[in-house]
Amino acid sequence: MGLQKENVIWFFGLSGSGKTTLAEALNKRLLKKGFLTRRLDGDILREKLNADLGFEEEDRKENIRRAAEVAKLFSETGIITIASFITPKEELRNLVKEIVGKDNVIDIYVECSLETCIKRDVKGLYKKALNKEILNFTGIDAVFESPKNHRFTVNTEEETVSQSVNSIVLFLEDKRLF
Ligand code: ADP
Repeated sequence: MGLQKENVIWFFGLSGSGKTTLAEALNKRLLKKGFLTRRLDGDILREKLNADLGFEEEDRKENIRRAAEVAKLFSETGIITIASFITPKEELRNLVKEIVGKDNVIDIYVECSLETCIKRDVKGLYKKALNKEILNFTGIDAVFESPKNHRFTVNTEEETVSQSVNSIVLFLEDKRLF
């Protein structure tokens, strides 16, 4: 395999946009093709490595910084890393590229309107955020900046999970990742 480049796939988007779902589906596809992969999920990282961090601006940055450093370690070993983090600001997305190396990251915007994310409310967090039971929730009382310089977009309102994954796989094949 010997993958050297472009082996960090970084899903970003609102909570409930579909990052975890797509990361899991893409992971399955890549494993089937015989690639060595590693999932890196925001919620899971926050349970252990980043358990000391909250959702204030500085902590969000530290959360992403550590995740990107871990992704870099995998990347250097030739393991495909599939990351799923809200990564709400351009500054944070740029930090990922800075740490991992711009050429090594394929950042994929998981586009979905806030309205639909609120309707889905997969984890019941929007309800809590709207009731002010939790603070600094992206899309409610914390900003999500529209992305400008990302590599690829999927729209989970217009596409099914398999359509989104298919389009990502086609894009990766086109980039000769596999
Ligand atoms: P996130 O990780 O971004 O918070 P999740 O993957 O946990 O989001 O939740 C997304 C929800 O949206 C899931 O319930 C999933 O089944 C649903 N969904 C509907 N269409 C899509 C799609 N095309 N891609 C991904 N998720 C989708």
